[in-house]
Amino acid sequence: SSAVTSTNKIVLNLESLGSLPADEAGPLARYASTIQAQRHDYNGKVLSIRAEDLKSLAIIYDMSPDELTSRLIEWGVLSPGMESIVSSGGD
Ligand code: C2E
Ligand code: C2E
Repeated sequence: SSAVTSTNKIVLNLESLGSLPADEAGPLARYASTIQAQRHDYNGKVLSIRAEDLKSLAIIYDMSPDELTSRLIEWGVLSPGMESIVSSGGD
């Protein structure tokens, strides 16, 4: 499969994340909190994460990166249009 490109940043909407049920969003919320702590960045409504982190999160959620991206868009955590980040080029 193709490499994840970094022309578009993965930007999480922390307000949407905070309003999701913990049983679904819990692992993602903990991951985001850890990144905020490592950066000492607690003020934002959004958090840019590494493309690599999306791959790690996909493993945590037992999904492909594409599936996780779709889920994050459904949850309102990721803006629509971000599918292209992890797509392999074909529809
Ligand atoms: P690190 O990976 O050794 O990165 C050290 C510093 O390099 C970071 O300090 C940051 O100033 C800069 N840096 C590294 N990669 C990037 C990048 O892609 N974009 C930007 N803008 N800067 C980058 P910082 O931010 O204080 O982070 C400290 C440590 O916290 C990092 O050390 C890393 O271990 C962890 N960390 C922070 N944010 C993330 C993240 O989004 N994902 C992951 N996996 N780790 C993170
Ligand atoms: P990426 O690794 O996919 O990271 C996407 C964005 O997540 C970064 O955009 C930055 O806003 C945030 N980010 C990632 N890691 C860190 C971190 O450790 N600390 C902080 N404070 N923010 C982080 P940005 O900065 O525009 O970077 C775009 C791309 O450029 C990155 O995509 C990465 O591929 C590359 N890059 C930037 N800085 C570094 C670096 O210090 N080391 C490496 N290896 N790559 C970097």
